[in-house]
Amino acid sequence: MVDVLVVGAGPAGLAAAAVLAALGAGEVEVLDREPRAGGTPRHCHHGGFGPLGLEGPGFAERWVRTAERSGAALRTGVTVTDWAGPLTLDTTSPHGLERITARAVVLATGARERPRAARLVPGTRPAGVLTTGELLRAVHVHRQHVGTRAVVVGAESVGFAALDALRLAGVDVAALVTEHPRHQTSPARALDARLRRGVPLLTGATVADILGRGRVSGVRLTHRDGRTAHVPCDTVVFTGDFVPEHELARRGGLLLDPGTKGPATDGAFRTDRRGVFAVGNLLHAVEPARAVAREGAAAGAAVRRYLAEGDWPSASASVPLRVAAPLAWIAPNLVTPDEPLPYGGRFALRTAEFVGRAPLVITQDGRTLHHARLPRPPVPNRPFHIGGDWAARVRADGGPVRIAFG
Ligand SMILES: Cc1cc2nc3c(=O)[nH]c(=O)nc-3n(C[C@H](O)[C@H](O)[C@H](O)COP(=O)(O)OP(=O)(O)OC[C@H]3O[C@@H](n4cnc5c(N)ncnc54)[C@H](O)[C@@H]3O)c2cc1C
Repeated sequence: MVDVLVVGAGPAGLAAAAVLAALGAGEVEVLDREPRAGGTPRHCHHGGFGPLGLEGPGFAERWVRTAERSGAALRTGVTVTDWAGPLTLDTTSPHGLERITARAVVLATGARERPRAARLVPGTRPAGVLTTGELLRAVHVHRQHVGTRAVVVGAESVGFAALDALRLAGVDVAALVTEHPRHQTSPARALDARLRRGVPLLTGATVADILGRGRVSGVRLTHRDGRTAHVPCDTVVFTGDFVPEHELARRGGLLLDPGTKGPATDGAFRTDRRGVFAVGNLLHAVEPARAVAREGAAAGAAVRRYLAEGDWPSASASVPLRVAAPLAWIAPNLVTPDEPLPYGGRFALRTAEFVGRAPLVITQDGRTLHHARLPRPPVPNRPFHIGGDWAARVRADGGPVRIAFG
């Protein structure tokens, strides 16, 4: 038995564990299936992590040290495979099977990119098709040969991160392809890719066919206006399009939010199971690592409060938040009236399409809780945030809260 079991040693889990151990929560154990703690940033050998612009591995190492110094126990090479009770988890590792019960469980299992099969891309099934995560591992961890000429699918920040890894691996990039009318990263980054590296950005285009037997020989692109183009390449990298790593939450029967597909949580990171919390990109794939670590620290404080006071809302006390297309999701996605607002007093949202500066309208049973234009037009594949004052006007006895562009 431990006091808190944290599943996932990425920035979210490590920050939560560090705060819990520092606040005297008792025995705090963090498990990760990878051979080393640190999460996704360990594989991201590019700058842009945190205020110091650290590279991912340096950022990860700082959080590993912080958690260890605070007194949390980190165990790696341990995969949590299932639940054996409401607060009991089964694990497997090279040392065998183990069953661990905790007073509180924190799920911080992160997110992953959807692979080619899940994106329903037609064509043959040759070698040479990767996600960014697989590419980063191949280049930075296993130092494998990747290919010679690649097409990168997706033009959000992660797609541009893939360009760095491909360049390091000596792979030419034939094109960056996005279905959207423009890229979804900073203008400076997009300009750098086009002018300095000479990578063309093909907008309004989708991969209609992957060609090749044995190894990729090219892709056929379809433009929104019906034109098609054949681009020869031996590597295709599918980037972005993240889904939460939610298998454990699903296996445990936790309520999932239909938008994020991660566990439904309120502002205090509480799921619908007493004593089970969730945090990080499992809730909102994906936010920058620094924001996730800050959120992890806030979750640690929320878990500590629960251990001291034992408060947990009943299922009927929390009101679900539901988004209307083209909004994709909101997190947190439950409001427990008279309870604390989410960390930082704000909600994260995601749009699936460019929508300009349309006003955001929040209603409950036809009653307007919020109606305001966003300060900047939201961009697909990037989170945007709104304040949470309106949440105080949500009625516990009302229907779901609806969030839509007006
Ligand atoms: C390609 C790429 C580039 C990025 N670039 C940047 C950037 O430049 N700047 C920036 O700020 N952010 C960047 N990010 C985002 C950043 O990496 C994430 O926001 C951050 O890592 C999320 O932290 P997390 O703790 O929620 O999840 P993760 O870091 O993904 O950690 C989750 C951990 O849970 C473990 N786990 C999952 N399931 C189990 C299980 N069943 N049992 C045991 N362990 C389990 C995993 O092994 C993993 O270590 C990038 C992400 C990607 C993919």
